[in-house]
Amino acid sequence: MIDGDLMALSNREVLYKVARILGGEEAVSIVKILENVDEITDEEIVAKTKIKLNTVRKILYRLYNHSIVGLRRTRDEKTGWFIFHWRLQPDQIEGFLINQKKKILEKLEERLRYEKSHEFYYCGTPGHRRIPFEEATEYIFRCPECDKPLMYYDNSKIIEFLTRKIEQLRAELQ
Ligand SMILES: [Zn+2]
Repeated sequence: MIDGDLMALSNREVLYKVARILGGEEAVSIVKILENVDEITDEEIVAKTKIKLNTVRKILYRLYNHSIVGLRRTRDEKTGWFIFHWRLQPDQIEGFLINQKKKILEKLEERLRYEKSHEFYYCGTPGHRRIPFEEATEYIFRCPECDKPLMYYDNSKIIEFLTRKIEQLRAELQ
């Protein structure tokens, strides 16, 4: 129902989750390699993962744009080309997590206001939505999906749950 799962995760799990969002399983593999080294070049990552160089670079830059990895550049003395040395910036995950929590908190507060300011009616069929009073009158108190009568739905449990989650998040963010 609510994307509060992030709170229960460790920093490492958050890191993997973020990597997966940004670049799928390949990004997770890259992050796992970065975790075990101080610094590593794109070519070394290719050798270890068998992921194509272009893909490795694309993912690394995406992670870099979110400050999850850092970058140091040196020049190859023989070829004159740049060598990119990548490293994980795990402390950045903390900041990412705080921002995520702030976003979740805002959503929860908005949701709580909505729950508190509406009265809901529900047909009882799992998966069908609860309908606010104003809208339910338009449907003459019949579910628009299954046509069953809409009954008053007590949302005090939801309000309680949201209030608890919000308090918990506020405490964590302090
Ligand atoms: Zn229904």
